[in-house]
Order: sequence, then structure tokens, then C-alpha cells
Amino acid sequence: MQTTPKGPLLTGIRGRCPRCGEGKLFRGFLKLASRCDVCGLNYGFADPADGPAFFAMTAMSFPVVGLALWFDAAYAPPWWVHLVTTLPLLIVLCALPLRPLKGWLVCSQYFYKAGEGRLAVTNTSSDVDTGRPQARDPRRQERLSPSKPEGHGAPNHGESAVSANHGDSKRECS
Ligand SMILES: [Zn+2]
Repeated sequence: MQTTPKGPLLTGIRGRCPRCGEGKLFRGFLKLASRCDVCGLNYGFADPADGPAFFAMTAMSFPVVGLALWFDAAYAPPWWVHLVTTLPLLIVLCALPLRPLKGWLVCSQYFYKAGEGRLAVTNTSSDVDTGRPQARDPRRQERLSPSKPEGHGAPNHGESAVSANHGDSKRECS
């Protein structure tokens, strides 16, 4: 029986599979496994890109820079002291949260079904039968969007359909 994951945050921080909450998400420190070793979920959908790095840098830069400024103002150390204290601190503090952040983002992708935007093209059979570029047919435009003159010359069918619905709802209202 599958256990239900608690949520993208907890599951991701633990580095577990977003579907079953048990299988390992990572194969290395940051490298994702190809699929879940428990439920077999393919991790091919996962693409957090540089999201983890962005969040880590944004979250860590302020406290570390603040600390460095305080350190410099309070003790006025030579510059190389920063090189061996502040810089390693910044690198470690930025690297440590990368894995939980990446797990969280990948799990969020799965939970909220995030992906690249796709056009929801709904071709009806009549559209296919005419075989004409729909946007160039003025009669069709008139039929689809009677109350929206700016709808003329709309490049794709999706937009015409939207304006047609809009026109319909307008007519119902009045
Ligand atoms: Zn799984």
C-alpha cells in the first residue's frame, strides 16, 4: 500500500519521491535519480533549473553580508581574514540548502503539475474541414466575435474561441 506524502515541502526537504513519499529523489548530492526505487515514478518531469540556487543565494546573502559588515566594523580585520572566514561561510551556507530546496521544488512541480506552458488548441471538425486559415475569413470572425471588433485578425483559433465565448456571455448579460 502506498503511503501518501505529507506535502511538497516536507517530502522535498527529506529528499523523497513526491508520489509515494518513500523512494529516494536524489542519486548524488544534487543529482536526481532517474526514477523512484519504490513506486517507479519517472523523475523526467523534474526541471527546477537554477531555482534552488536562486532561493539559496537570496536567502543567505543578506545574513552573511550583514555578518561580514558587522565583523569588519567591529574588528577591522585585514582583507584576507574575510577570505578565510566570510567567503567559506557564504559558500557553505549557500550550498547546504541547495538539496532540500531542489527537493522541495521538484516535489512542488509534481504536486502542482507545473510544466512548460502549452496552448490548449481545440480544433473542431468543421475547422479541419474548411482547410482555410481561420483568421483570414472575415465572415468567420464576425460570427465568432460579434461584439468585439478588436478580435479581427486574431492570429490563432484559440483566441477567436475565447472572444467568441466572451461575446456570448456579453449577450447573455444584456
Ligand atoms: Zn515513489
